[in-house]
Amino acid sequence: MEDEIKLYLNKLFPINRSITGRGNEKTLQILNEICPIEINSIPSGTKCFDWSVPPEWNVKEAWVKNSKGEKVIDFNNSNLHLVSYSCPVNKTIDFNELSSHLHYLKDKPNSIPYRTSYYKKNWGFCLTYEDYLNLNKNEKYQVFIDSKFNENGKMVYGESFKKGKSTKEILITSYICHPSLANDNLSGVILSCFLFREILKLKNPKYSYRLLLVPETIGPISWLSKNSSKNIVGGYVISCVAGPDSLGYKKTFLGNHEIDKATKYALKGKKYIKYKFEPIGSDERQFSSPSFRIPTGTITKSKYYEYEEYHTSLDNLNFISSSFLKESLDIYLKSIYYLECNKIYKRKFGECEFMLSKIPNLYPEIGGTISQPLFISNHNNFKYTKKTNGEILDCISWLMFGCDGVNDLFSIQKKSKLDIDSLIHAANILKEKKLLI
Ligand code: ZN
Repeated sequence: MEDEIKLYLNKLFPINRSITGRGNEKTLQILNEICPIEINSIPSGTKCFDWSVPPEWNVKEAWVKNSKGEKVIDFNNSNLHLVSYSCPVNKTIDFNELSSHLHYLKDKPNSIPYRTSYYKKNWGFCLTYEDYLNLNKNEKYQVFIDSKFNENGKMVYGESFKKGKSTKEILITSYICHPSLANDNLSGVILSCFLFREILKLKNPKYSYRLLLVPETIGPISWLSKNSSKNIVGGYVISCVAGPDSLGYKKTFLGNHEIDKATKYALKGKKYIKYKFEPIGSDERQFSSPSFRIPTGTITKSKYYEYEEYHTSLDNLNFISSSFLKESLDIYLKSIYYLECNKIYKRKFGECEFMLSKIPNLYPEIGGTISQPLFISNHNNFKYTKKTNGEILDCISWLMFGCDGVNDLFSIQKKSKLDIDSLIHAANILKEKKLLI
């Protein structure tokens, strides 16, 4: 799978993406090879709450030439060189005027910063500070930006859906608007598709699942304004998952939602950074707003704001790795596994304890490996380690006490402090014996 991840990282990295434009459509078409994605769109100019979908922006070429006719900045070399949503320009100007449209980072002199100007008509180029210092201050420069704003254009986004037993939905969302930046957020987009590919394989899952690949901010705002989100009970905003730093988890705004609990179990035994919720970051800002209050968490590996290379040309394919992405994917898969396992069981009869010795073949099965791995693919981290009969008997006692049709498995784990995997295993045994329904 790592090879496959690598293939898509390489294929998608060079594409120029923004909040609109052909690059986004091309990106979604390629992602459709990983898992089926319906490509939808909203026309430019559509009102969405107090926002409106911007005109579609596309760019053919953009460069700055010195007086000798040499290109000193060229969008062809890196799509980060052009400020996203730059208006068309074709003029010769002096250094001072050019300089007011240049962006660079003095403290990171070898990196090109990532800049956008979505809602203010402007133009600009980004370059390394080293390249900036090499510009001759006494020269005139020709600036050429062949970009187009189409008021009759569209904003595209991708959607996929897996129907489960319940109409309640878990949202898996990520943002597709960043150009050639690897960790933020090509990694998140690719992980979301691989995750959803596994979700689509689930047989009769407890929850329904929705995948939403949108440009950040305006994407969820427009989706929420045009679609019903009443069935979405929680989800994940997937961002920055393939960097070299520790795993991390940013909690939902509730902090103790089922999503938070499932993620905690999935991260069990791993070293990870805990981030509390704050309404700063990514699309949790929209989903968590008062009219929706959808709790979303984010599992990260080198979280946005936390790494030096963030929003610069150094956030490239050398900064991330497909094995780091796979590591994060496994945590997301495990979280979904726990969400699916967290059932509310009811005992067949609730009077006192079951007479366990009367249950045929109970004891030989206790120590066995009965738990069915939820995901069929080669995620060997789902293998269940054998537990002793004693441990499983403890679990059975707690299940006999707790399974009243009200308590879910997570709450029984919290009370009992028993291992979640053992509880799931014991619940499966009792279910097979038709003692739990
Ligand atoms: Zn970003």
